[in-house]
Amino acid sequence: MQTKLTNILQTQFNKTIEDCTNEELYTGLLMLVKNLSNDRKPTSTPRKLYYISAEFLIGKLLSNNLINLGIYDEIKTLLADNGKNLSDIEEIELEPSLGNGGLGRLAACFLDSIATLNLSGDGVGLNYHFGLFKQKFENHLQKEEKNPWITDKSWLNDTNIGFDVEFNGFTVHSKLYDIDVLGYQKGLNKLHLFDIDTIDETIVNDGISFDQKDIRKNLTLFLYPDDSTKEGQMLRIYQQYFMVSNAAQLILMEEKAKGHDLHELYKYVCIQINDTHPSMVIPELINRLVLEGIDLHEAIDIVSKTCAYTNHTILAEALEKWHLEDLKQVVPQLISTIQELNAIAKSRSDNKAVQIIDEHNLVHMAHMDIHFGYSINGVASLHTEILKNSELKAFYELYPEKFNNKTNGITFRRWLLHCNHELSQYITSLIGDEYKTDATKLKDLLKFVDDETVLNKLLTIKQNRKQDLCNYLNKTMHLTLNPNSIFDIQIKRLHEYKRQQMNLLYIIQLLQKIRSGYVPSTPITFIFGAKAAPAYIIAKDIIHAILCLQDIIAKDPVASKYIQVVMVENYNVTNAEKLIPACDFSEQISLASKEASGTGNMKFMLNGAITIGTEDGANVEIHELVGDDNIYIFGESSDDVIAHYNNNDYDAGKYYNNDEIIKNAVDFLISEEMTSIGQTENLHRLHHELISKDWFMSLLDLKAYIQTKDQAYNDYEDRLAWAKKSLINIANAGYFSSDRTIAEYNNDIWHLDK
Ligand SMILES: *Cc1c(COP(=O)(O)O)cnc(C)c1O
Repeated sequence: MQTKLTNILQTQFNKTIEDCTNEELYTGLLMLVKNLSNDRKPTSTPRKLYYISAEFLIGKLLSNNLINLGIYDEIKTLLADNGKNLSDIEEIELEPSLGNGGLGRLAACFLDSIATLNLSGDGVGLNYHFGLFKQKFENHLQKEEKNPWITDKSWLNDTNIGFDVEFNGFTVHSKLYDIDVLGYQKGLNKLHLFDIDTIDETIVNDGISFDQKDIRKNLTLFLYPDDSTKEGQMLRIYQQYFMVSNAAQLILMEEKAKGHDLHELYKYVCIQINDTHPSMVIPELINRLVLEGIDLHEAIDIVSKTCAYTNHTILAEALEKWHLEDLKQVVPQLISTIQELNAIAKSRSDNKAVQIIDEHNLVHMAHMDIHFGYSINGVASLHTEILKNSELKAFYELYPEKFNNKTNGITFRRWLLHCNHELSQYITSLIGDEYKTDATKLKDLLKFVDDETVLNKLLTIKQNRKQDLCNYLNKTMHLTLNPNSIFDIQIKRLHEYKRQQMNLLYIIQLLQKIRSGYVPSTPITFIFGAKAAPAYIIAKDIIHAILCLQDIIAKDPVASKYIQVVMVENYNVTNAEKLIPACDFSEQISLASKEASGTGNMKFMLNGAITIGTEDGANVEIHELVGDDNIYIFGESSDDVIAHYNNNDYDAGKYYNNDEIIKNAVDFLISEEMTSIGQTENLHRLHHELISKDWFMSLLDLKAYIQTKDQAYNDYEDRLAWAKKSLINIANAGYFSSDRTIAEYNNDIWHLDK
């Protein structure tokens, strides 16, 4: 590698490694990786998967690519020998924000595992120039800014591929950029990101606002622009159609080039529809097959055997329904096909709940996917059961054979080998490195549950990561954390159902307890990281309250000795890679039934954190794997929560009025102390929301949450017992490798290699 890298640097910059700047070294490494990718054998299986997704939250790629090429250690040493530091060079790379959170990160983990399993499968999505947004805090408020990431030298490769995409009254011509997806040790696939040349980055004003009407200029500027407005919603339809029309044309182009008979498309191609955003690929592909001379009903049959759908949520507001009129305005060519699909759906069942077009002329995208796809899967076993037994019951009765579960996973290359190199090396020293390709081998660690040397070493590694995090936050955000405190971390999108507000109320009641004389045994640092959707008012109010509380505690001479609140700006993959390995307590406290799976919970477990959580999403499976003693479970069950919704009998006021501790904590939000720092309007709005509506029931489990956390902090004091819990979590995390998830998708849904 040394010769290869020095040759590149010589040709590009006429410099040695030692003389290069970090920017130049980054460019050199980028080119080295691209050259090595070219030498790799692309995957080739009889059937090819197209994973269509509006989001791919890929994170930085340099280190991961070096790991997957097997040259990470060599390059790191080579650089160090020349006075250079690989992690400084990594900082040059910009992180693209091509996703919101879990769903987009899942898509990125899947691409890694698909390539690693040497399966032929490409991602298809959009090349958003400014991504989601970059989060800044100003006056204790979230401010959104554009997040540019495309630079002269990037992972994007130009292609000469482009297609005409027709909208009502005008046509745009797309341009495809590809990113190589390198599997671990083997496998090479592509992430296809479509764009158009006419995008005008200068139309973005202050923050992230821009003229939403000029589609040629704005189509791929941002991921999911504000859809609280009509224009925002229309732009989203334009984006979705642009994505799927390109996907359909790419698929047909590749299939024709391979000489395959389009009548048998389903034998060669499988399309995974990641959530409902790509659902229009169904009518689009039908139309294109008809244009190829195939009869409409045969085309519908072919597409039905090609498409499979993944459901990620039961939250009503996230299940997309578009007005037929709006679709007609953007893509009139799909309307008659959608109407025909609706007619067929009606002929299969007279249950109104399964219609595609409802009585208000809303088109239910998920319904189209279920009728005209051959598989529908949930993303954790509880979630799939809820789909079958309540949310999608009518569909399950109609098509029981289509329903299946695929519990999410994460790639261990990024979430262990890369982000916690020391831990992964230590594991290797104990059990060998087979676990890197067969994660179930981590179970061999159980041999060491009572080995004090091993347990102490795990504690030391955790302490090292905590120190690393302190250094990182000090450097990047000028924060000073106490590395000897407990690190209690909740990082995920800000949403009421995830209940950051419940965590906030815990901290407030602890502050009040400390003020009345209580002294915690070990100081605690409460770390948050979360972006709120720009139009989600209450979510932004919760961020505001956390930031105000952060200030109040920091300024309290007594409380600040024992507790600290830190909200990390711009939570993203890069931050996650620093935060997760440093965590003692993983907060997974969603309202039971609402978190479909979660994947943050898996990353924490793998890095030895102990979960405090509800029986929700994949927490249920974590609980089963580690047993009662190695996780802190609290709160009402999903059945009980669903019953509260059905009976409409949850009354936040009752919890507020009947419990002094809860009342005092909630009222603190509108105390003089808070309103003198923060915005009275925002804090009162949040207070009112919590005691009157509280749709996601944050007061329901607060009492149990307080008791459970107090117990957990108590248990932390016995360091060896604690390390044992940590080891048991790591040893049982193998199930959550996305290699396992992808093997299941392949065996049950895709059948790529047979
Ligand atoms: C894993 C991950 C998520 C998902 O976290 P959840 O806790 O499962 O919601 C979101 N954002 C980033 C940056 C992640 O890495």
